[in-house]
Amino acid sequence: MRLGGNASYVAEVTTPEQLQQVYQNAKKMNQPVYVIGGGSNLIAHDDGFAGVIILNKIPGIDIIADDTTSTTIRAGGGEIWDNLVKFTVDRNLAGIEAMSGIPGTVGAAPVQNIGAYGQELADTFISLEGYDTTTDSFVTLSWEDCGFSYRHSIFRGDSAGRYIISAVTLALDKRVPEPPFYESLQKYLDANDIHEYNVQTIRVAVLAVRENKLPDPAKLPNAGSFFKNAIVEQWKVDELRKEYPDIPTFAVDDKHVKIPAGWLIEQCELKGQVINGMKVHDGNAVVLINDSATSYADLAAAREEIISIVRDKFQIVLQQEPLELNGSINS
Ligand SMILES: Cc1cc2nc3c(=O)[nH]c(=O)nc-3n(C[C@H](O)[C@H](O)[C@H](O)COP(=O)(O)OP(=O)(O)OC[C@H]3O[C@@H](n4cnc5c(N)ncnc54)[C@H](O)[C@@H]3O)c2cc1C
Repeated sequence: MRLGGNASYVAEVTTPEQLQQVYQNAKKMNQPVYVIGGGSNLIAHDDGFAGVIILNKIPGIDIIADDTTSTTIRAGGGEIWDNLVKFTVDRNLAGIEAMSGIPGTVGAAPVQNIGAYGQELADTFISLEGYDTTTDSFVTLSWEDCGFSYRHSIFRGDSAGRYIISAVTLALDKRVPEPPFYESLQKYLDANDIHEYNVQTIRVAVLAVRENKLPDPAKLPNAGSFFKNAIVEQWKVDELRKEYPDIPTFAVDDKHVKIPAGWLIEQCELKGQVINGMKVHDGNAVVLINDSATSYADLAAAREEIISIVRDKFQIVLQQEPLELNGSINS
């Protein structure tokens, strides 16, 4: 977002042991610690961070098991997520191809259970390894341990800041991806006469669709989707559909339905508007771009105004998706 102050110290780590050492040294010096991967889902505050930022650069992508139907891959937490996707797609492995192009690192992927175009990390996740700052030990956490749900896990919830993820293990499928695909993806495939569905064609389509919908943070500062899609009960959608017959929805479970946050914001005629220096992206209303904001306070004011306008119109309260660097882990 190009906002926020400086950190006192930054330490790059390339092994789990270094990670433990930096954490313990910081603790001895009474310095708070925060871990960052790519920083693409993080909002910093104006006063910066008076402590140690650990930059996770732990590398490695390895095939650790392979049979006739699936391949198990272990990747270092500091690997770039999209390099891992490319690695799997190059080997005709399915399961994460629709998550092509999501910025950030492998180690951050479980934190919000990243997802896109109908896939999410939890679908292929087997386990992760990490440093437990509470017990000063290395641990392996299973799928059940991580408490995944829509853009959520224990790492954003009860255990926020407790674990530093050093590696993630996924099981990829040897089957060819099959329709139905996400609507915008299917539209792109049809429009470009792509009828042979495989992980390569899906990756190419996803990257092209994303390029149109998501501004490049290097050119227009943004954190991707700024709001989570709203999850509401079915009766709420039935009520809204009377006034908005074309409301887009996605089933979550028997009782709950997802409404795109971007659609809600667009209906409030906020697309393209600049509020306190933050611009609601013309192409995709769920993305906020730092147009002329100079402080975290500007961003917070814009966020509150958008939330309040959407709440007044739909009685739905949007939630921010990016996390905030405003405390230390274990503080
Ligand atoms: C243009 C754009 C498009 C995006 N599209 C999508 C999308 O389609 N789907 C989606 O789900 N997300 C999307 N995002 C959000 C972002 O890409 C993901 O949340 C990604 O996982 C963040 O990775 P990162 O390494 O940059 O994490 P950071 O921003 O560095 O960190 C995010 C949080 O995770 C914690 N964290 C980071 N690494 C570790 C670790 N090793 N151990 C423990 N905690 C850790 C941090 O402390 C912080 O709380 C998008 C962002 C942008 C800017």
